[in-house]
Amino acid sequence: MTRFTIVLLLNSETRQEAEDFRPKIAEFQQILPENIEFILAHRAFSIDSSNSTSSNDFGLSNIEKYHEIVNSMKNTTYRLEFERILKEKCLRNLAKSTGIYKIMLADDADDLGRLTLAQLCLGRGGSLSSLVSVFDKRTSSSLIFIRPLREISKKEISLVNQLQEYKSIDFPANFSKIPNSSIQKLTDDFVNILEGEKFYSTINTVLSTAGKIHNLSENFKNICKFCEIENCSDCLCETCQQIQIDCSLLNLVQFS
Ligand SMILES: [Zn+2]
Repeated sequence: MTRFTIVLLLNSETRQEAEDFRPKIAEFQQILPENIEFILAHRAFSIDSSNSTSSNDFGLSNIEKYHEIVNSMKNTTYRLEFERILKEKCLRNLAKSTGIYKIMLADDADDLGRLTLAQLCLGRGGSLSSLVSVFDKRTSSSLIFIRPLREISKKEISLVNQLQEYKSIDFPANFSKIPNSSIQKLTDDFVNILEGEKFYSTINTVLSTAGKIHNLSENFKNICKFCEIENCSDCLCETCQQIQIDCSLLNLVQFS
């Protein structure tokens, strides 16, 4: 029988901020079918050293350590990429811990278009199709990421919610802006400028092009041990080697 679980994945600064979400979850559960489980998790679950199989804390006890590691990085571009990879690792740990093998992500076309351009700038052009495709089975494990909103923009989602009159519950999310002095900020500004000049199909064009670029090698032995995206001759791809240099508090190879 198929079992559904909704994960609320947080990036809060403190455990108390994370715990403050529990009443909202209880409110949300009232409008969902009873057999749907809800998990409150933090990205700090990515650095869980207990092999993730026994912990049911889902990172909440590691929040301080997680932010200490992330904030130790000086280069904003690498820090943002590091956080993105840790988010994926957190989901992999969650899958391992709960026995889930298919995860649907909430990334929409706007998110993925910007991610595509940022990854191109980080030198991952040859491997990015799996990062932005509907089905993402990147490693030899049985876990699959699914992106059902890949072709749908934020505006379209908002319009459907409005027309269908879906009941909304506000989560007090802290949507932080992309920091300046980063490649991610530059690519975000680039897309915003194009859309401001009425090039509305920029995101669709970027995504459809990205979907056609595939890495010829499917040899999982050569895949980067940390990001699990790029093929490399060493343990870490070039981007992850730079992240390792910037993040002295974590040995990425051992951590992987
Ligand atoms: Zn890598």
